[in-house]
Amino acid sequence: MSTDNKSSLGEGLSNVVKEAKRLKKVREKGYREKALKMYPWVCGRCGREFSGKNLRMLTVHHRDHNHDHNPPDGSNWELLCLYCHDNEHSRYIEEAEYGNPTGNESQDTGGTHQPFADLAEMLKKTQNGKN
Ligand SMILES: [Zn+2]
Ligand SMILES: [Zn+2]
Repeated sequence: MSTDNKSSLGEGLSNVVKEAKRLKKVREKGYREKALKMYPWVCGRCGREFSGKNLRMLTVHHRDHNHDHNPPDGSNWELLCLYCHDNEHSRYIEEAEYGNPTGNESQDTGGTHQPFADLAEMLKKTQNGKN
């Protein structure tokens, strides 16, 4: 009768989590390096320039907010400084949460934001790419 099972299970789980985090880092590093080679080291919002030490303040933003969508031509990437990147995301969340009030679907705000159109487009692209 031992309770050790629990702790070894916990260890296994934390290894899995660690491994997943490591893989995520590797992947992020991969596209970050590509994006940095592809684009000038300037924040796409505030225009701040980066080099050397403060280059780590420059991050890669995914235009469609899908971090798994990394086309090799870099069309989904945008270099943003940490601050503008943060801003961009809080704006996106606000839009997602408040931009389309429920029960008021007929109201036309004149915006062009059509998440499902984008999705359909993306699906089309992935399907074509698999041939
Ligand atoms: Zn910026
Ligand atoms: Zn982002």
